Amino acid sequence: MPYDSHAPRLATRLVKGGTSTVVDGGRAVNPPVVRASTALFETMADLNDARSRRSTERLFTYGARGNPTGFALEDVVSGLEGGYRTRLFPTGLAAIAMVFLAYLRPGDHVLISDCVYQPLRHFARTFLEPWGIDITYVRADGSDVASRMTPRTKLVYVECPGSLLYELCDLPALAELAHRHGALLAADNTWGSGVQYQPLMLGADISVMAATKYLSGHSDVMMGTVTTTEAAWQPLATMSDAQGVAVSADDAYLVLRGTRTLGARLALHEQHALDVAHWLTTQPAVARVFCPALPEHPGHALWQRDCTGTNGLISFELSQVSAEAADRFVDGLSLFGIGASWGGFESLATVVNVASARTCEDWRTAGPIVRLHVGLEDPRDLIEDLAHSLGAIERNG
Ligand SMILES: *Cc1c(COP(=O)(O)O)cnc(C)c1O
Repeated sequence: MPYDSHAPRLATRLVKGGTSTVVDGGRAVNPPVVRASTALFETMADLNDARSRRSTERLFTYGARGNPTGFALEDVVSGLEGGYRTRLFPTGLAAIAMVFLAYLRPGDHVLISDCVYQPLRHFARTFLEPWGIDITYVRADGSDVASRMTPRTKLVYVECPGSLLYELCDLPALAELAHRHGALLAADNTWGSGVQYQPLMLGADISVMAATKYLSGHSDVMMGTVTTTEAAWQPLATMSDAQGVAVSADDAYLVLRGTRTLGARLALHEQHALDVAHWLTTQPAVARVFCPALPEHPGHALWQRDCTGTNGLISFELSQVSAEAADRFVDGLSLFGIGASWGGFESLATVVNVASARTCEDWRTAGPIVRLHVGLEDPRDLIEDLAHSLGAIERNG
């Protein structure tokens, strides 16, 4: 009997029914979560046409190359970064790794700034070096980049402001230098989140963000983004497709939801962090406060020139206090969670080992350094909490 399209049997009805999201009435504010491996086409010709264009154009052809929910997030990130296009990665670290995989080949040389996100050094040691990439770490302020360039240098990779101490480099000057030597400039823009800082607008070719931090903003999802200029785009797209790296629509949705309040949250993180930073500068037990918005910060002039604000991150050095007392100070806080990440709505504190995180500068003689992520709690409560715990270590040494 031929198939009667007017009377499909139960199993067929179960498979074929309920697949449309087209409805009468209004439309949702938010884009749908499109969970998809397979994309369907009307004809073979349509499928073949999509396949012929997908390596250079953004088309939904298969889940491993992204999904419509992810594309919506890519558009938001491209807008924040002022870039051509964006790719999404399962973590910030995976995004960073892809930059090195896409733009370097065995025999190439790369300059990496001393203040980069620490796990990048582990990636460099365990993958890049055995793979035949030559690495030179350069000073966090970029002052020795010119003298470290070689004819084989293909990439200059910086983080600005830097992890832990927020060092700044002169990005437009580094871009000019890199381009003059035929190299690309990439920057980790997790600190600036595309709001406080925009590396591509300052001359970089590639900008990476851990969307895990402020873009998501709620400590409940991991993601990384890479945005480039049009000229730098193709190697990233090609290598990402070759490796089948994509993120789930659910994760993309969570980050997209976070981006809606990014500007409002950052403004509050900044305000609260500045309250805490100013209070810290008045404390005798605090030797130095690291926050680029403070006039005494070494990179303050560059911050004023290139950034539109600061965020919830501050670090400070304790004077005349042992490492154990610094641990006790953090343990004694009640409103600050003890954790390594940041960028969520909540306050965090951790003692950081700057000496082991830097190889171009010697931090071994500095006192213990505490990093705070100042969250959305009332800053008066946060300051009382800090004062209480600082008082306890001052009394007990
Ligand atoms: C957290 C972080 C990353 C890595 O992001 P993950 O999503 O945790 O892998 C990269 N760069 C900076 C500056 C970070 O703070």
